[in-house]
Amino acid sequence: MSDSATARARAEIDLGAVRANVRTLRALAPGAAFMAVVKADGYGHGMVPIARAALDAGATWLGTATPEEALELRAAGFGPDRARIMCWLWAPGGPWREAVDAGLDMSVSGPRALREAAEAARVVGVPARVQLKSDTGLGRGGCQPAQWPALIAEALRAERAGLVRVTGIWSHLACADEPGHPSIAPQLARFRDMVRYAEQQGARPEVRHIANSPATLTLPEAHFDLVRPGIAMYGLSPSPEIGAPADFGLRPAMRLSASMVLVKQVPGGHGVSYGHTYVTPGETTLGLVPLGYGDGIPRHASGTGPVLVGGKWRTIAGRVAMDQFVVDLGGEEPPEGTEAVLFGAGDRGEPTAEDWAQAAGTIAYEIVTRIGARVPRVHLDGTP
Ligand SMILES: *Cc1c(COP(=O)(O)O)cnc(C)c1O
Repeated sequence: MSDSATARARAEIDLGAVRANVRTLRALAPGAAFMAVVKADGYGHGMVPIARAALDAGATWLGTATPEEALELRAAGFGPDRARIMCWLWAPGGPWREAVDAGLDMSVSGPRALREAAEAARVVGVPARVQLKSDTGLGRGGCQPAQWPALIAEALRAERAGLVRVTGIWSHLACADEPGHPSIAPQLARFRDMVRYAEQQGARPEVRHIANSPATLTLPEAHFDLVRPGIAMYGLSPSPEIGAPADFGLRPAMRLSASMVLVKQVPGGHGVSYGHTYVTPGETTLGLVPLGYGDGIPRHASGTGPVLVGGKWRTIAGRVAMDQFVVDLGGEEPPEGTEAVLFGAGDRGEPTAEDWAQAAGTIAYEIVTRIGARVPRVHLDGTP
């Protein structure tokens, strides 16, 4: 990455922190395999470098939402000898044949997807690796308990015909980020029931799994054969209720900063940015930060988003625009080019992605994932 490419702004990604986070999470679930969830460009951190760091730290599976993401991982050199790869969001007419050919594990929630997988397997001449997803209560993807017997029967018929191999049974939790939530125990009980039913009918899954980051961190009884952390691997907490990253020995991997492109004096009573929602309370200095909602900075952080400039927290003055926002520097005149740190690990005085989530009324997942392609990623390969 040339200096000019990062002159405006950059998201530095600490791969050493990612590796350490993976090791920390593995130690919490010592009996389970580790699937590194790298969907959505590794939650904005860069899918391929993150996948490599996670595998280096002992992950054996990679998880993505779309088959396109999973195929991109295979194309990047993560072959079947290096990683099992699973993807779970399949549209009708998706790349089923390519997925069978690439040896991907594909999630199936219903008969339509099962038939597409089996048909692709017949064309390719290799069984489709199918993981049956049960809706144990999330009410999103997955097969409802009432339809489970029919799905199991059809999957096992296809398995006997050599068209699919049922490699896994899995589910997803609705409220694991709210410790003690009354939906958690019933979801786990339903999962055990649905796994038991499938196995009684003759299914022989290699892996049974339900644990996302919050369940990996707080629910050992949910670890089963494999855990699927996403957000925690990037060093962020799933929710403030669960705790801060440091409570679990996790370190945020992304640091987003920009170079101030203009510093100027303005009189009191001066409106700032579109709509003049901020008016300078007196004579002051304004700093222009060259990041906006076109880079994934939430417009909802207008008037609230925190930025570290010259050792002090400043707040976005007025509206976030597409490409830029303004901070009131209170009369200070740092040189143009001074670094404005939007968020980072939080241990050098800077705000965190969680601070931004609070400022914008969202979750830290959305803050990091939405950082746009216009912001160059700089991967720092810290000591393992
Ligand atoms: C995104 C996702 C995960 C990871 O969730 P985190 O809360 O980021 O740990 C796990 N499983 C599925 C099915 C997902 O979609």
